[in-house]
Amino acid sequence: MSADHRDYDIIVAGGGLSGMIAACSAAHYSSQALRILVVDRNDLESLGRKTLTGWICGDAVGKKPVDYMNKNININWQYPEIEHPVKGVVAYSPDHQTRISFDGEGYILNRKLLPQRQASDAISRGVDLKGNIMLRGLITDGNAVTGVEGDDLKENAPFRKTSSLVIDCTGVTSVLRTNLAINSYIQRKIQRDDLEATGRYICTFDVGRDDKTYFDPEYCIIHLDQNIAPGGYAWVFPKGNLKANIGLGVQQKALEQMNKKSGKNVNLKHLIDNYLNSNPAVHNPRLSDDIQDSGNSWGTWQVSVRRQNDCMVANGYMLVGDSAWMPKPLDAGGIGPAIIAATLAGEHAVNAIQRGDVSETGLWSYNKAFMHEYGYKTAGLEVFRRMLQGLSNEQINYGMKHFISKFDVEKITNGEHPDFGLVGKMGLVFASVMNQKLAASLKRTAEVNALLVKHYNEYPNTPAGFIEWQNGLMDMLGNSL
Ligand SMILES: Cc1cc2nc3c(=O)[nH]c(=O)nc-3n(C[C@H](O)[C@H](O)[C@H](O)COP(=O)(O)OP(=O)(O)OC[C@H]3O[C@@H](n4cnc5c(N)ncnc54)[C@H](O)[C@@H]3O)c2cc1C
Repeated sequence: MSADHRDYDIIVAGGGLSGMIAACSAAHYSSQALRILVVDRNDLESLGRKTLTGWICGDAVGKKPVDYMNKNININWQYPEIEHPVKGVVAYSPDHQTRISFDGEGYILNRKLLPQRQASDAISRGVDLKGNIMLRGLITDGNAVTGVEGDDLKENAPFRKTSSLVIDCTGVTSVLRTNLAINSYIQRKIQRDDLEATGRYICTFDVGRDDKTYFDPEYCIIHLDQNIAPGGYAWVFPKGNLKANIGLGVQQKALEQMNKKSGKNVNLKHLIDNYLNSNPAVHNPRLSDDIQDSGNSWGTWQVSVRRQNDCMVANGYMLVGDSAWMPKPLDAGGIGPAIIAATLAGEHAVNAIQRGDVSETGLWSYNKAFMHEYGYKTAGLEVFRRMLQGLSNEQINYGMKHFISKFDVEKITNGEHPDFGLVGKMGLVFASVMNQKLAASLKRTAEVNALLVKHYNEYPNTPAGFIEWQNGLMDMLGNSL
C-alpha cells in the first residue's frame, strides 16, 4: 500500500507522558500538516495511566528538560499539572551522617492531571486521540512496520490502522517492541537485573518531628540504604507542606539475597510500609483523598535502569521513553529523558516523512541526536549503578563521606558519572581492605565511563557502522564487570 493510502502519517502508540509530547512535537515541526493519531488503552479521562492502580511514578522532574521542551516545541506546563516546586535533591547516607545536596530547581508533577493538559495541547495542534484501544501488535509489510492492530475495548471490535510511521510510547513492557517481527537492530528484551520493582504512596500526614533528613517541603529526599531498599533507593518527594510521594525501588535479586540471609520473606509492599511508618517527620500518614489523587494514591510498577536501547529505530518504527529503556540507570528518572527524546522524535519523524524515507536509514538521525543530547552518559551510569548495588551500607557511608567532591556533585547534578578525583589523590592507601577495594572500584567505573562517553560520541552516522560500534560497546561493558 502506498504511503498516501494509509490512514495516518504517524500513529503514536501510547498516550502517556512521552506519547503526547512526541505527537505535539510532530505536529509542531510539520506545522500541523501531518495526520497524527495517538492511541491508548485507557479511556480519554484516564490517559497515561500505567496500570489499573494508577499513574505510578515518583513524580519528580528537573526544570531543565521541561525548559528544553518549552523552548523547542512551545509546550508550557503550569499548575495544576506541576503540583509543587523543589529546589533540588538531597541524598543521605545509610547512617544519615553524610548529606549530599544536588541543587537545581525541579518540579513534582501530578501525573494524573498532566495527561489531560497534554491531551488539550495535542488536540489544539490537530492531533487525533483515541482511547480504549488495547494494542496487540504491529502491522508489517515485507520488512517494514505499516501500522498497529489490537482491540477496541469500547466497541468490542478489532482495531486496525495503517500509517507511514509508528512511534512506540507504550512504556517499559511494550508488546510492540518485544514482538517486533522485522529485521532490526532494536533489542527486544531486557535482563531481569536491569529492572527495578518500585512502588509508592501519595499520602497526606500530620506534623511529625521536625527533621529535614526525613521530610523537607523544599527538597526531594533520597535515602540510600541496602536494608531499606536493597539494590535501589527510597525517596520522600514533597507535594506540599503535609503531602508527599513516598516510595522505594529494589533490585529483585538483591531483595531475594536479603531474604535468604535473614530467613524472612519480605516483599516490596512490606518494605514500603516499613519505610513509610518509620518516618518520624511524617505523623499519621494516610492515602491522599484529594480528588486529583483518587485512584492514584498507591501502586507498584517496574522501571528499567540500564542504558537506552542501543538502537531505537527500524523501518517505519521508532521507540521513545520507557519503551526504549530511557530512565537514568542511577535513579530511574525517566521523565527528563522521555521529554528530550519525544521532542527529538517528533522532529526527526517529520523530517523523514517529508523526505519520503521512513526506513531505518531515514530515521537513523534520531538515534544519533538522542545519543548526542542525553544518551551518551547512560552506559557509564549503568556501570556505576551495578557497582553501587554490590556495596554494603558501611561502604556507602564511607564512600559518601570521603570520596565525593564538589566537582562530583556537579557531575551527578547534570546526570553524569562522577570522576572521583579525590580517590586518585588519596593514593589508594586506606585503613581497611574494604575501603581500598571500594576506592579501586570507584576509580575503575570513572575510567570506564570516560571510554564509554567517547564511544557514544562516535555513535555511527548510518546503520552500516552499527554492528562494529555495538561490539565495541559490549567489550567495554563486559570488561567493566
Ligand atoms: C514507582 C516509580 C517511580 C518513578 N519515579 C520517577 C521520578 O520521580 N522521576 C522520573 O523522572 N521518573 C520516574 N519514574 C519513571 C517514569 O515514571 C517514566 O519514565 C515515565 O512515565 C515514562 O513515560 P512513558 O510515556 O514513556 O511511559 P508510560 O508512562 O508507561 O506510558 C505508557 C502509556 O502507554 C499505554 N499503553 C501501554 N501499553 C499499551 C497497549 N498495549 N495498548 C495501548 N496503550 C498502551 C499506557 O496505558 C500508558 O498510557 C518512576 C517510575 C516508577 C514505576
